[in-house]
Amino acid sequence: MLELTAEAFKEKITNKLKTDRGIEIGDASDKDIYYVIAAIVNEEIMPQWYDTQKKYEEKNNKQIFYLSMEFLVGNLLQSNLLNCGMLDVSNQALKELGLDPENIYAKEHDAALGNGGLGRLAACFLDSLASLNYAGHGYGIRYRYGLFEQRIINGNQVELPDYWLKNDYPWETKKEDEAVCIHFHGDVHMFKKNDGTLEFNYENTDKVMAIPYDIPIIGYENKVINTLRLWSAEAVYDEQETLATENNEFYHDLDHKHSIEQISGFLYPDDSNHEGKELRLKQQYFLVSSSIQHIIKNFKKNNHTSLRRLPEKVVIQINDTHPSLAIPELMRILMDEENFSWNAAWEVTTKVIAYTNHTTLSEALETWPKGMLEHLLPRIYMIIDEINERFCKGIWYDHEALRDTIPSLAIIADDQVHMARLAIVGSFSVNGVARIHTEILKKQEMKHFYNLFPDRFNNKTNGITHRRWLLQANPNLASLITDVIGPQWIKRPKQLISLLKYSKDSSLLEKFDQVKHENKKILANHIYERTGILVDDQSIFDVQIKRLHEYKRQLLNIFHIIYLYNELKVNPNQDITPRTFIFGAKAAPSYHLAKEVIKLINTVASIVNYDPDIRGKLKVIFLENYNVSLAEKIIPAADISEQISTASKEASGTGNMKLMMNGALTVGTLDGANIEINDLVGNQNMFIFGLTADEVMDYYQHGGFDATAIYNTDDRVKRILDQLNQGEFGSHDIEFKDIYYNILYHNDPYFVLKDFEPYIETHEIVERTYRDRLTWLNMSVTNIAHSGKFSSDRTIREYATDIWKVKQVWG
Ligand SMILES: *Cc1c(COP(=O)(O)O)cnc(C)c1O
Repeated sequence: MLELTAEAFKEKITNKLKTDRGIEIGDASDKDIYYVIAAIVNEEIMPQWYDTQKKYEEKNNKQIFYLSMEFLVGNLLQSNLLNCGMLDVSNQALKELGLDPENIYAKEHDAALGNGGLGRLAACFLDSLASLNYAGHGYGIRYRYGLFEQRIINGNQVELPDYWLKNDYPWETKKEDEAVCIHFHGDVHMFKKNDGTLEFNYENTDKVMAIPYDIPIIGYENKVINTLRLWSAEAVYDEQETLATENNEFYHDLDHKHSIEQISGFLYPDDSNHEGKELRLKQQYFLVSSSIQHIIKNFKKNNHTSLRRLPEKVVIQINDTHPSLAIPELMRILMDEENFSWNAAWEVTTKVIAYTNHTTLSEALETWPKGMLEHLLPRIYMIIDEINERFCKGIWYDHEALRDTIPSLAIIADDQVHMARLAIVGSFSVNGVARIHTEILKKQEMKHFYNLFPDRFNNKTNGITHRRWLLQANPNLASLITDVIGPQWIKRPKQLISLLKYSKDSSLLEKFDQVKHENKKILANHIYERTGILVDDQSIFDVQIKRLHEYKRQLLNIFHIIYLYNELKVNPNQDITPRTFIFGAKAAPSYHLAKEVIKLINTVASIVNYDPDIRGKLKVIFLENYNVSLAEKIIPAADISEQISTASKEASGTGNMKLMMNGALTVGTLDGANIEINDLVGNQNMFIFGLTADEVMDYYQHGGFDATAIYNTDDRVKRILDQLNQGEFGSHDIEFKDIYYNILYHNDPYFVLKDFEPYIETHEIVERTYRDRLTWLNMSVTNIAHSGKFSSDRTIREYATDIWKVKQVWG
């Protein structure tokens, strides 16, 4: 480890300010300082990056390529400093220069190249791959616009473009000479060669260049630097610098150039809802084709053997079905460019590709209109068609009992191409992301596929990097933990379990309480700065931060708040522990009901926060533009973690893990990874309520739930729904009617009313427990102690051992 003193670090800052930016420290802005610190990190890691790649080439071990349409990496300066061992010295140097490190690090614009959990998972996985010394790299798209920036105006969500590349991004390196060419559209011609085999040629295709930009992924204090490669779309130019198209009719055509650059123009702001746009399909093929071309080039460079041995050197993990065109694309390259037979190509492909499923929500299962795929990617479509033919024939002849199910298994059915089916058929591993999710896949959603390929299905419960989400985001808690149990937990997060020995020591619990309280004060300040609202740092900080979706049930939370408000209006003297409800959530721009819920939360906030009868006992805060940086501020200060999805709907969740690791107690349904948290900490250390997944699925299958009956019998529910219907919260009386109608006329599809009563009762228990400080703190520390299991290091080790069959490269 390099021994860099704060003195030397300060000198580096002042020197670099002069040499890189031509200014003296006294004239430097926070942004100038940000750039020079990033440059100091780059200077440190660039040689290590080179060495890592050289070592990988020498050892020539199997490498992992994680293909994902999203990488929600967030800000990188602080975590890069942490991982390369310079965070403490940087903090100290900045303080000695009279600067606030937080302000400097905050100058980085989050790389918001993801919607939510799925994209953040990919980022956590990269951190663990490098930190555990696996040769694993990410491939994604360098969207010029990341996830939209959210503003709240008059309570409504307004979306602004997120132009994160406006200023130089110091972490990327453009690799122009590694560009590859992608073909869309065109005609496919088939020839019979002398040996009787077929040859395929393509003509009149539209060509697009894919230019890679590499971002270093720094392992924690191990000098391993892996790569996140993001592809950017550019027009193809010929020698005369004119746009090269088949017949040059687009000579100097800027519209054409623009339409090509659109391919990596922006990230679709949809989370778990399928957005069926041709541009999105183009993006998917663009990612897949450029990545696979590069993977094959690399294999050929390092191996002078046949591509038949690709599975010994390469595994491609596809994050959800978005990159599932990897299957026909690899087939295409092997057959059309490498002269493989169908069978030989299939053998290789199905040993290289592994698929992670992220959802069972039917509206989120991707399909593409057959005609669209055929027009955009004619050769790829032919290959999918052939995969489908062979697959269906195989069932017909070999699995007579399943003949009737062929329409529900066929990759192409009802003029749609079903991407999950393609992904299952064309891969050697299909994994769910939490135990219950994998069980639902096997027993319900994909049961026929499970019967066909039982060995393919496996579970890999998600995780989060404890380095970012504890060590970096909550330094006070991290150092208290280290004071108590020593620093081994940083390399071996399961060792957090040693905290259990101290979980009854009241003087120690006191210290945990102080850390939480300090964090709450910091968040309270931040809330004041951002909203002008004063919140009581002695109140319970009750947090729900995640994408806005009906199944995540922010509505249940706000109904509880309205209920508390109604009660306080009737009896203002009620002795309740003050509560601060904190929300952060973006809604997909086209998701009307989700936006209505945002408006409702903000409207209720504007009433409750200023009602003198409430005397500050309730505060409702909606923090706009929820992203990684905001998550890092909220999570260390949370007392309560709301994980209240309709059971069976949340595949895993990872917000639940981040909050648990920071000592928040979970109010949750038995859904996703909540179940595995519950297995570890027990009912006595979390607040479980509501329908189980089996009960929910039973209602869906057999009926028997009547939302109107609850409305008619529960006065609290009736009151709230009538308040919505009568415009008591609206600026006009049709506002919030859609929420009312959805619950009463669509029979409350997410069981908000069904779980209302148990939810209210659970919150009464929460409040009583909170007053019993030692019990609460004991529960909190118990949760931290068990959170080591949810480090993504554990998840990545499981992928490495069970699916990828790879070992740590050295060390
Ligand atoms: C962790 C995280 C998520 C996922 O949260 P869930 O509660 O699991 O849905 C979404 N967005 C951001 C910014 C995150 O950090």
